[in-house]
Amino acid sequence: MTTAAELVKMIKDEEIAYVDLRFTDPRGKMQHVTALSDIVDEDWFTEGWMFDGSSIAGWKSIDQSDMKLIPDAESAYIDPFYAEKTLALFCTVVEPDTGELYDRDPRATALKAEKYLKESGVGDASFWGPEAEFFLFDDVRFQVAINKVSYEVDAQDGSWNSDTDYEMGNMGHRPGLKGGYFPVNPTDAGQDIRSEMLSTMKRIGMKVDKHHHEVASCQHELGMIFGGLVEQADNLQKYKYVIHNVAHAYGKTATFMPKPIKGDNGTGMHVNQSIWKDGKPLFAGDQYADLSEEALWYIGGILRHAKALNAFTNPGTNSYKRLIPGFEAPVLLAYSARNRSASIRIPWTESPKAKRVETRFPDPSANPYLAMSALLMAGLDGIQNKIHPGEAADKDLYDLPPEELAGIPTVCGSLREALESLEADHEFLLKGNVFTRDQIEGYMELKWQEVYAYEHTPHPIEYQMYYSC
Ligand code: GLU
Ligand code: MG
Ligand code: MG
Repeated sequence: MTTAAELVKMIKDEEIAYVDLRFTDPRGKMQHVTALSDIVDEDWFTEGWMFDGSSIAGWKSIDQSDMKLIPDAESAYIDPFYAEKTLALFCTVVEPDTGELYDRDPRATALKAEKYLKESGVGDASFWGPEAEFFLFDDVRFQVAINKVSYEVDAQDGSWNSDTDYEMGNMGHRPGLKGGYFPVNPTDAGQDIRSEMLSTMKRIGMKVDKHHHEVASCQHELGMIFGGLVEQADNLQKYKYVIHNVAHAYGKTATFMPKPIKGDNGTGMHVNQSIWKDGKPLFAGDQYADLSEEALWYIGGILRHAKALNAFTNPGTNSYKRLIPGFEAPVLLAYSARNRSASIRIPWTESPKAKRVETRFPDPSANPYLAMSALLMAGLDGIQNKIHPGEAADKDLYDLPPEELAGIPTVCGSLREALESLEADHEFLLKGNVFTRDQIEGYMELKWQEVYAYEHTPHPIEYQMYYSC
């Protein structure tokens, strides 16, 4: 436990010039305000810091804009990128008059989800291992050569053009489509940048263990060791922050958008999860794949509520371009110990302690606090109502004949469908006041804006298909 008193002493001893207060908006982007460290004493940690909440999309209106950030001493780390020595702290947003958690603050939701797990009596701790993939591209203008088609993309205005006659010629040590997975350098050109990202994460106190090239060209993944719900949601914010900033220092851009390139693997964020009770793993047992009954019901809950969950776990219009067959992303709402085309996989492990459920549909454009809290609430609903997930699907689901496919439900096909599903199915999120109706309404309002922006904008491919019709 790190205390406020220890941090105040550290600020003096280590001559820390600034304290940076970080919080996350409903869309999942980390925001900050900076305080000169001279004003920071022990009381400051409990009194908090006033700020204007009306400038955050989806929060308060301008006429009731005052809000308060309460820093979490436990989350402190020295920012590795600022020129001036700065202590960064994750904060929770509270109502200034009552001191109650602000119900549209995603971190508050995650804190309430952890509390609800204990209150429910199902377990006393949950463990989370999110695996966020990402792409690295050269800054501003980048070229990606796919299937002998070259797209030149302007990262500033998002415009692109393609030259279908382009031939790639001799690629030498440059990886072709899917060629970077797993040969050593120089085919894998990302070794040094990934190592620097992982070392930076280690330096700021994150528990990390590995990195590797991913299946698509320019796609990568770094490994975080499992942790608690709020802890891992904070860590995912740090993960993205470090990746964006190290990429920037190398003159590159990182993107967590789920499907940046047509015809190649998209970017997923598989979420490994388990629950413990009285120091014992609740998910280990003698059922299918050495799971317990509770684990099967947990899976049942996630599959039952998957379409509503998609609004949080796959929260952008681009998310649904990834959830198509053929690219290791799931489509069908099924589970299996073996196959990666199912929405839920049970990774093989001999250790009951490592027994876990891997949900494969989420992607890293999700707000980590909301996505993981929603997954936990769906799983708990499964356990509370003993929702059995049915038989496991141990065949390659991409290859099933149409008559077998017909009976298996799928993830949503669009953000529109996900929002409609959340509208129809959100009671499970409201238990224990973890999510609130007001919060879900505010979130949906933001997301409908994205749906309309997308649906109302002519797409470049439409010019190709329809311009000369
Ligand atoms: N990139 C794949 C996805 O979209 C996952 C690849 C893997 O299994 O790591 O989920
Ligand atoms: Mg991966
Ligand atoms: Mg995985």
